[in-house]
Amino acid sequence: MKKPPANPTDEDSVDNCLFCKIAAKQIPASIVYEDDDLLAFKDINPAAPVHLLVIPKKHISTLTEAQPEDTLLLGKMLALAPKLAADHNVSVVYGNDGSPTRGYKTLINSGPDGGQVIYHLHMHLYGGPRPWRGMH
Ligand code: AMP
Ligand code: ZN
Repeated sequence: MKKPPANPTDEDSVDNCLFCKIAAKQIPASIVYEDDDLLAFKDINPAAPVHLLVIPKKHISTLTEAQPEDTLLLGKMLALAPKLAADHNVSVVYGNDGSPTRGYKTLINSGPDGGQVIYHLHMHLYGGPRPWRGMH
């Protein structure tokens, strides 16, 4: 597993960051959403019928490195989830009896015990018919 950068703002770490390279369009990705702050793209190894990643364009290694001034950015990441879910037809939908159907999962892995492999903050969005790989 790749070692997390000693210093999350270290120039070299950012230069070698896969998701920074995707944000800079130096490496291709299947991009589904972009604005000034965020990018969303399809996970290359999907664990569910819909598996997207939402990243800040700015390099933040893990949720732990997010600063108070990043609060709005974190909110934007979370707020994007229902829009992406709607775009990919996995929104929560209420049946005639009012009970919810379909739906999606949002997940941020932080650090080794959290299962983080890529050390650029990202939020997973999973959806679509189950089963999903390795998840309940
Ligand atoms: P995590 O374990 O939370 O760090 O998740 C990293 C995710 O990035 C995994 O689900 C990988 O499949 C995904 N991934 C790795 N490389 C790429 C890539 N080049 N494009 C899209 N997704 C990727
Ligand atoms: Zn990065």
